[in-house]
Amino acid sequence: MSKKQHQPAVGKKIANALKAYYRKNGCWNKGRKHTAQAKQNMSLGHIGLRRSKAGNKKHSESLKACYRRIGVSWNKGRKRSDEFKQKLSTANQGKVISAKQKAQISKAQKEHYRKYGSFHTGRKRSEETRRKMSAAQVGRTVSAAARRKMSLSHMGKKLSEETRQKMSLQRQGADHPNWRGGTSNEPYNASFNREFKAQIWKRDGFTCQICYKTGVALHVHHISYIKKDDRPENLTSLCISCHMKTNYNRDFWQAYFTYRIRRDYTPEASNSRQDIVRTARISKGAEVIRNDNPPSVH
Ligand SMILES: [Zn+2]
Repeated sequence: MSKKQHQPAVGKKIANALKAYYRKNGCWNKGRKHTAQAKQNMSLGHIGLRRSKAGNKKHSESLKACYRRIGVSWNKGRKRSDEFKQKLSTANQGKVISAKQKAQISKAQKEHYRKYGSFHTGRKRSEETRRKMSAAQVGRTVSAAARRKMSLSHMGKKLSEETRQKMSLQRQGADHPNWRGGTSNEPYNASFNREFKAQIWKRDGFTCQICYKTGVALHVHHISYIKKDDRPENLTSLCISCHMKTNYNRDFWQAYFTYRIRRDYTPEASNSRQDIVRTARISKGAEVIRNDNPPSVH
C-alpha cells in the first residue's frame, strides 16, 4: 500500500492548525462515525505496522493518563464479541511468555490484589462454568508436593458454623463416600461381648495392631468387615483412632490383616515366599486403592 507523505514542515503546519482548531472548537470529528469501509481501510493500513519503542511508551502513558483522569479503565464494561474472543484466542496460541514478562504480570496482579482484593470475591459461577471446571479436573493427579501445599494453606483455617453444617449435610447417609448401603446398622452377634473381646485383646498382648500402643482403649476389628464372622482369625485389636483408619482403604486393610494373622498365628505359613511377595505388592498398591482402582487382592 502506497502512503502519501507530507514534507515534515507541511505536516507540522497541519498539526498546529488542527491543534488550534481543537482548542477553539473541540475535536473536529467528535460524534462523527467512520463508515464500515473506512474502518476496513484503516484496519488494512495498520496491518504489519509496529509502534516504535518510544511510540509504545507514549501510547501506554496516554492510556494511563486517561485512566487517572476518569478513574476507570477505558474498556471497563465493554464486552468482547464471541468472534473477537475467538480471534484473541487464536492469536495467543503458542505464544511464549518470557520469565521477565511472567514476573511483571505476577507483580501487577499482586499489586491489584492488595489494592482491591480478589477480583472474583462475591462472584458466582454459573452452573455451566462449574460443570466445565469439574470436568477439567477429572483424572487429574495432584503431586504429593502440591497436596502438601494445599493442606498447609488450609491449616488453622476456621470454618463458619454455616459452612460446617453445609459440609456435614453433604456427607450424610448415602451421600457419604464411605456409605456401604446401611450395613453399619446391622447387629453384631450377641456373643460378641466384652468377655469374648477380652480373649482377642489378650491374644494380641493388649496392643493396637496398627500403631502398637498399649494401655489404650481397644476395639476388636472385623478383618473381613463382616460383623457376624467372629472367628478369631477374622478379628484383631485396634485402638479407636486406628480403627477409624480401617474405614478407608478397606481392601488394603483386609489384605494386610489377613496376612498378619496368618503370619503370626499359623507359623507353618509364615515362611511362604508367596505371602511376602503379596504383602509387598499390597503395600505398594495402597495408593492405587485410594484412587478407587484396586489391584486384585485375594
Ligand atoms: Zn492404634
